[in-house]
Amino acid sequence: MQISDTQLDLVNRQIERLLSSNNFYGQRLREAGIGGVDSREAFASLPFSSKQDLRDAYPLGLAAVPEEKIVRIHSSSGTTGTPVIVPYTAKDVEDWAIQFARCYEMAGITSADRIQITPGYGLWTAGIGFQAGAERLGAMAVPMGPGNTEKQLQFMVDMQTTVICATSSYALLLSEAIEKRGLRDKIALRRGIIGSERWGEKIRRRINEGLGIESFDIYGLTEIYGPGIGISCSEGEGMHVWDDFIYVEIIDPETGENVPDGEWGEIVITTLVKEGAPLIRFRTHDLSRIIPGPCPCGSPFPRIDTIRGRSDDMFKIHGVNVFPRQVEEVLALFPQLSSEYQVRLSHLEGRDTMRIYVETDGTQDFLDTADAVAHEFKSRIGFTPLVKVVELGVLPRSEKKTKRVFDERYE
Ligand code: ZN
Repeated sequence: MQISDTQLDLVNRQIERLLSSNNFYGQRLREAGIGGVDSREAFASLPFSSKQDLRDAYPLGLAAVPEEKIVRIHSSSGTTGTPVIVPYTAKDVEDWAIQFARCYEMAGITSADRIQITPGYGLWTAGIGFQAGAERLGAMAVPMGPGNTEKQLQFMVDMQTTVICATSSYALLLSEAIEKRGLRDKIALRRGIIGSERWGEKIRRRINEGLGIESFDIYGLTEIYGPGIGISCSEGEGMHVWDDFIYVEIIDPETGENVPDGEWGEIVITTLVKEGAPLIRFRTHDLSRIIPGPCPCGSPFPRIDTIRGRSDDMFKIHGVNVFPRQVEEVLALFPQLSSEYQVRLSHLEGRDTMRIYVETDGTQDFLDTADAVAHEFKSRIGFTPLVKVVELGVLPRSEKKTKRVFDERYE
């Protein structure tokens, strides 16, 4: 997806703002002697920015406007180390709400809907983004925040909420609770906006059936506004992104080069109109691809595919880049396996070895399963791993970003 002339003009305005503020990226541009970009090639040679840059700028070094223009901050909760603080101007807050309202509209939600919001409020960008988008749309927001399932169910029934906003794990929990209490015909849900965890088709079906909804995947990250910069449409093939607010590139995480449309790689985002904390070529570490061609839904906005893991989980072995989604595709062929896995790469006796741990429900012989998985790997990815089959529930799970690949080759 090549950058358009309009987008290039916007990038140049962002560059001007960064240079005059002299924040970390402004300094980087100045050191590189860059005053603007006049072509796609010039854009592609702009330096990347990273989460570490943002941490280094803690607390307010990201700001590209005078402090009196900043109306709010949000913070991404790094699991370790310094958090990232993102300052927003009044226009940034408004632009985010505009994008979020667009997401609701893409999902067929109108001002007549009642939107129950279960993501958290606070420093985190989740709840407040869902809220501002709902208000911008003119819908009725029911700002529950997370947890307290009994109260969630009570409001779902009494308020007859029509839209549920949740993570996939919480939506699943709600649907099970509704089933257990026999509330299915007392609720009025019709749509679900599901936050950007990874979740498979199996879980989606269970949630859709359990809650009686059509569900949509929403995309976003705190560093770039928050959730709401893209959403799936009723065609269910990828997520549209708002390319008047952001420009999305896909790069090879190893080389940093752009990959052709349709190929998988890491999402890199440039904000086009952000004031408080403009970001140029920010590496998200989310893995996706541009879906080429127009969407059957008729929307002119470009599409990226459903996020399939993190580039930190991509690895190279025997000269082949292996993406987590390829591993998942192999495992999905075996009904006796769960979707959990763990890859360990080691260097033994002069050669690289991959061990993969997979979980089985025990309905098939462990050794037969291991052989079949190894064979499938060989035919699809090109080499044979050592497959270790373990019992269901043995591999670690976490709510977010479970680490699945351990590279022990150079330790
Ligand atoms: Zn579409």
